[in-house]
Amino acid sequence: MWFECYCGHSIHDTSDAHYFKAHAVTDKRWLPFWDAIDKAIETHWNSDFERESACMALRRPGYSTMMLYQCSECARLYIMRNDGELIVFRPEDNDTPRNLFDH
Ligand SMILES: [Zn+2]
Repeated sequence: MWFECYCGHSIHDTSDAHYFKAHAVTDKRWLPFWDAIDKAIETHWNSDFERESACMALRRPGYSTMMLYQCSECARLYIMRNDGELIVFRPEDNDTPRNLFDH
């Protein structure tokens, strides 16, 4: 997927490990997310396929995380809600780092 920032810069999310993208887990979903990971690890699955399916379910977009994107040109922050809506925030000053997620 891709979208255009209000400044005109294109933000492309077409592969993995982008420096401008992050995943956020809300506090409300933090413990249930870790409980689901524990269950996927600790459950005695009847087959490798079942175990793999349980692990892959945790990776589905929207299962527990929201996607965050930062424009590298203007530092605007976009939050993609689980319903697909993009919410945008603009920094208060021009000194905001353009690489908040590059660590
Ligand atoms: Zn921008």
